[in-house]
Amino acid sequence: MYQRTFWSNLDKEKELRQKYLKTLETNLTKLRCLPTCPEGLDILTLMRNHMYAVYYPKFYQARCTLREISIGKGLDTCVSCDSCKAKCIRHVDIASRIAELKAIYA
Ligand code: SF4
Repeated sequence: MYQRTFWSNLDKEKELRQKYLKTLETNLTKLRCLPTCPEGLDILTLMRNHMYAVYYPKFYQARCTLREISIGKGLDTCVSCDSCKAKCIRHVDIASRIAELKAIYA
């Protein structure tokens, strides 16, 4: 009985987390922060990675988000522009977060 409740709650938590992430991604995509990096970095996923790596911190989830990033769209593609051109209309400081991620994963 206890085990069934445990697994049921785990499934509900997974489902809620998926809904939350989907909503978050939809909302972030609407903010159109993606096309602002001339190198085409996956800024959205990198910002989610930063959230897991720095703010929570949840390193397993951070590692999982890194695996979601397509080849050529990750940190290794960042050419460290003189002034990072990735912009967020909600004033998230993308440049400093990219720099922090580079320091973490260097
Ligand atoms: S410094 Fe900013 S704009 Fe330049 S490649 Fe890296 S993430 Fe993109």
